[in-house]
Amino acid sequence: MSETFRKDGRILSANRSVKRPSPRRIEHLDKKYIWHPFTQMQDWEQERQIIIKSGKGCVLTDIHGKRYIDGVSSLWVTVHGHRKKEIDLAVSAQLRKIAHSTLLGLSNVPAILLAEKLVALAPRRLSRVFYSDSGSTAVEIALKIAFQYWQQKGRLKSKTGFISLKDAYHGDTIGSVSVGGIDLFHQMYRPLLFPTTKIESPYCYRCPLGKTRPACRLACADAAEATIRKQSANTAALIIEPLVQGAAGMLLQPPGYLRKIRQLCTKYNLLMIADEVATGFGRTGTLFACEHESVAPDILCVAKGITGGYLPLAATLTTEKIYRGFLGEYREFKTFFHGHTYTGNPLACAAAIASIDLFTKEKTLTKLGPKITLLSKMLEPFMVLDHVGEVRQKGFMVGIELVRDKKTREPYPLEAKTGIRVTLVCRELGLIIRPLGNVIVLMPPLSISRGELERMLRIVQRAIREITESKSIGRRSNQTANIPSRNCE
Ligand code: PLP
Repeated sequence: MSETFRKDGRILSANRSVKRPSPRRIEHLDKKYIWHPFTQMQDWEQERQIIIKSGKGCVLTDIHGKRYIDGVSSLWVTVHGHRKKEIDLAVSAQLRKIAHSTLLGLSNVPAILLAEKLVALAPRRLSRVFYSDSGSTAVEIALKIAFQYWQQKGRLKSKTGFISLKDAYHGDTIGSVSVGGIDLFHQMYRPLLFPTTKIESPYCYRCPLGKTRPACRLACADAAEATIRKQSANTAALIIEPLVQGAAGMLLQPPGYLRKIRQLCTKYNLLMIADEVATGFGRTGTLFACEHESVAPDILCVAKGITGGYLPLAATLTTEKIYRGFLGEYREFKTFFHGHTYTGNPLACAAAIASIDLFTKEKTLTKLGPKITLLSKMLEPFMVLDHVGEVRQKGFMVGIELVRDKKTREPYPLEAKTGIRVTLVCRELGLIIRPLGNVIVLMPPLSISRGELERMLRIVQRAIREITESKSIGRRSNQTANIPSRNCE
């Protein structure tokens, strides 16, 4: 190839970009050019980093050929494993037709067929699908739809506010941060955010009301009702991560809490937004977490696992009633003036259709049940470790909270980087996971095999002991050499 092109006034030979770069050069280029999300780049620049080259099933391979179990589903997205034949084929078949066409003023076949599937699978009453490309945008859209809905209803224009949970995480855009509540991530941006009303997160291990279950009789829901009652005239919607507040550290809501929130939204005339970006597509054992409590929200946000972890796609589903609130003559300007360039991207929608079809074809959820039970069993020994305060599990979402003092529940200071250090040991031993502060998060692909699950738990236990009990547990050399490369089930 003799082509050249101009960049910053310099002539570059296309040959240079074709030459396969060495692992060392790739490492160098990463540190030279990439700014990584949620990452202190000063640390990143100084440390040896893992750069992934390929994946198969539940195993990732780095540029040096070392293999790791993908214990965090490539950030909570991988469902059926990497390089899943059916999804690969669906994407390449779509690629032969068209990669992208807009949904603004046009439509495309995969977006239409996927919408039909989503409506059929979603909790009842949800009948309309608005696409975007990330969890944050799905939430942003939900907030704007809820706001505009009440504005266009006429007599309820005062309903402009939002209620959310204190430790919520709904994404990183300004609207989604406004309804978030994780100070470490959000405090800096307070001056940019719109005010929202917070209710306490049900965090039973550290109950903000100082109560214990079951004697508390869901006092947190009563406290929520007091706030909702007071704010209802000024509130458009309440937003909640159903059953599990993921990024807050896998906080599990007590049984009955979600249903109570649904009842309160109905009673006080608030729209209920369920953010199932993390919990959707099988994570909690059912397709959507809302199903556990037979709850149907007014607006549902999904992303992450929707494409099986292949391509960025999100959807915000609404009821027909909300959708109809936006209809009118053009001159009334009731249009929802919102749309992202890649909204309803055909490649991503084709991947999503294939992933959803796999749930039926492979009986993913039926097979998941016994694996969830097995995982619970394998987590039991963690509770007796000296520095494990609580083990929280809902389906395939697990949080292991590490504490400095088990008796007093005193947390490790964040500066000690205890969670990070545990996950670094895991990496050495052939497992990729990411902590949330002092909480070790396990989110393996739903397709993980029993053997891989056992291996993953063994590594995690060993790493926790090594860091929190400050002793090296045996030799670690060549621990990763024999990770099986076979596919997940
Ligand atoms: N909502 C929830 C519940 C999430 O867990 C996340 C991401 O972790 C988001 C929204 C934001 O999704 P994204 O990172 O795709 O913008």
